[in-house]
Amino acid sequence: MRFELEENHLAVQQHAREFAESIAHLAPEADEMSDVHPELLEKLRDSGLCRLMVAGAYGGIDEKLDPLSICLVREALMPCSCQADSLFAMQGIGSYAIGLGGSEEQREFWLPKIASAECLPAFALTEPDSGSDLKSISSEIIPDGDNFILSGEKSFISNAGAASYFIVFVRDGSGYSMVVVPADAEGIRVTPTPEIIAPHIMGEVSFDGVRVAREARLGDGGDGLNFVLATLGVFRVSVAGAAVGLAQAALEEAVRHTSTRIQFGKPLNRLGPVAERLADCWTEIEMARLITYRAAYLASNDPIASVHYSSMAKLGASEMAGRVVDRCVQVMGRFGLVRGSKIERLYRQARPMRIYEGASEVLRHSIARKLSEEFG
Ligand SMILES: Cc1cc2nc3c(=O)[nH]c(=O)nc-3n(C[C@H](O)[C@H](O)[C@H](O)COP(=O)(O)OP(=O)(O)OC[C@H]3O[C@@H](n4cnc5c(N)ncnc54)[C@H](O)[C@@H]3O)c2cc1C
Repeated sequence: MRFELEENHLAVQQHAREFAESIAHLAPEADEMSDVHPELLEKLRDSGLCRLMVAGAYGGIDEKLDPLSICLVREALMPCSCQADSLFAMQGIGSYAIGLGGSEEQREFWLPKIASAECLPAFALTEPDSGSDLKSISSEIIPDGDNFILSGEKSFISNAGAASYFIVFVRDGSGYSMVVVPADAEGIRVTPTPEIIAPHIMGEVSFDGVRVAREARLGDGGDGLNFVLATLGVFRVSVAGAAVGLAQAALEEAVRHTSTRIQFGKPLNRLGPVAERLADCWTEIEMARLITYRAAYLASNDPIASVHYSSMAKLGASEMAGRVVDRCVQVMGRFGLVRGSKIERLYRQARPMRIYEGASEVLRHSIARKLSEEFG
């Protein structure tokens, strides 16, 4: 058993770190914006990193998506800029279902533009009255001759105002489907989402009798939940990668501060409780990194069969990041609270990770169910 990354993954990691360094000066501004930072997007396009999000046949780097490469990129981007991390992640989350269930024409039209980041996608599941309970959505498509009519409201949709298309999760008769809708279709309206603790490119989207062609439906009618599951199988673990990167950056900030600040005649990090907290942080980060890489490796073989591992990695790493960044603020005292400082940004940016792509409590439920199936 090897515990080192292979050459190809080391190369991806190096590329992502260099890219992160090259955008570091834009991050403070970009991460306070709820819109796309144009220069950041331009640099992301130039980096070629989004080619990791699409299969080789459509302009991607690898023959099929590699969850470990995606994790490594998010681990490098998140500590630098949460906007860069989000833009990168959404290129995959918002296109994977097209790769699985789109017609050849849809794939050829959208996927190369995703790989080059010429187009940004949006993936619309959540509604004002439906979050964790995905099956309670009310958006629907109704057949109308050769078309469907799409109606409904979607809420907290990443990339909404900037997206070229929406993949929309809808009721379809007695089941659920996904439809791909160009963002300029008549009847779509995007309004701002209230700004959250760590600003995010996001919007509320209403679909008011939008006419979409029959071919806009991915796969066969009723495949919608399978597409959601498959997308989560590949991308949920990447949230864990981002959480590990964020926690590592917080720890490095705290170590830098506490090794130079003298109180009671010593650097803070030589005072027992401070040193112990830092040691706990490092240990927890290393543990989370291990399960994250393992879950990503398993997801590259069979993302659906290993989704419980991805859930464990996401749960463990996002909860860990919350604990670590909180301790790091604590050991930095008042300096950890300064608005706009790196540690303060990381503190805010860690919080949503325990809610999106499966709130911790919901993940515990699904992991516990799998546990009973395996050992009960
Ligand atoms: C930054 C950000 C970006 C987002 N981007 C997107 C996007 O691009 N597309 C999209 O569709 N959505 C997006 N969302 C929405 C996100 O998917 C939802 O916030 C998430 O699914 C949780 O739903 P909710 O917020 O409605 O919480 P609710 O479902 O109302 O749950 C609230 C809380 O109740 C608890 N809870 C819920 N269910 C259970 C349960 N079964 N057992 C125990 N406890 C439970 C959990 O603590 C949970 O946090 C985004 C959210 C954020 C914060």
